[in-house]
Amino acid sequence: MCDWCMKHGAGGKWYMNAKNYSNELAEAINAREYLQEQWKAFEMVYIRRIMGITSIDLGYKLQLPIIGRLLRWSAERMIHSEGKHRNPVRADGHFGQVIPLEEAKIILGNLAAEPIIENYCMCRWMQRGIKEACCINFGLLSGVIEKLPRFIPKDTKYRLDRDEAIAHIEEHNKKGYVATVWFQPVPYINAICSCENPECGGLRLRNDFGLHTVYKGEYVAEVDPDRCQACGMCVTKCQFGVLRLVQSLKRVIVDINKCFGCGVCRHACKYDAIRLVPRENYPALRGVY
Ligand code: SF4
Ligand code: SF4
Ligand code: SF4
Repeated sequence: MCDWCMKHGAGGKWYMNAKNYSNELAEAINAREYLQEQWKAFEMVYIRRIMGITSIDLGYKLQLPIIGRLLRWSAERMIHSEGKHRNPVRADGHFGQVIPLEEAKIILGNLAAEPIIENYCMCRWMQRGIKEACCINFGLLSGVIEKLPRFIPKDTKYRLDRDEAIAHIEEHNKKGYVATVWFQPVPYINAICSCENPECGGLRLRNDFGLHTVYKGEYVAEVDPDRCQACGMCVTKCQFGVLRLVQSLKRVIVDINKCFGCGVCRHACKYDAIRLVPRENYPALRGVY
């Protein structure tokens, strides 16, 4: 379990605690105002700034020993902020974690507050110029986004019932998109995204600059050597370069230190050779997210 589970998990995982999805909590922490400010300026604040980081400006400074450590500390403090006066346009208190399909389905089936909507992914729009509806939002956030027409898919049903939301997340996951669950702001949960690396701002900051915008999942992949046929199909599915086909061994090897535990590689395996196991099973990964 991560630090968020300790603080907001009520003895379990933070994203499995029903309280964190409740309208009462949203009202108590004034989430509506935060979300309105955050989403009004989404492209400007998140995508341009995040994607504007390059290896020659802030990215370079982040690599410096002392300045880099200070910048990292300050950025993580914002992301992990639980203070009352969080600044939504700096993404204070906006944090996510990778989850496997099974848990995304439980959230959408039982925990997510209604209404549930599916809107355009702005990360993909800003990066690739394509509008793909694959962000599932719920509760108070749905009402905020519904008032911003640029996020709403045209000519298609965007309000989903629970079964439809589950079917959609399954479809995205099978395409190879990584399911992530989000606090906006901590500890209110109102989104499950289907992300790709590096288009996703959160995953990019994590992978390119080592900032903990997104935690790895609670699991890691394991390959059953007796079942693996060394076909290599799973290798192309992993967005994080975790799997390596070793022809001499006639099997695939998992680099558990790099694995995000998303589980999408499982969809590629016709031989049912991959499963997810709790990261806690590996002493070296305990508490490392
Ligand atoms: S978090 Fe993921 S799905 Fe959501 S907008 Fe970004 S890339 Fe798209
Ligand atoms: S897809 Fe399955 S059988 Fe093929 S290499 Fe990966 S684990 Fe092995
Ligand atoms: S190897 Fe790990 S990170 Fe890669 S797809 Fe499988 S579960 Fe996800």
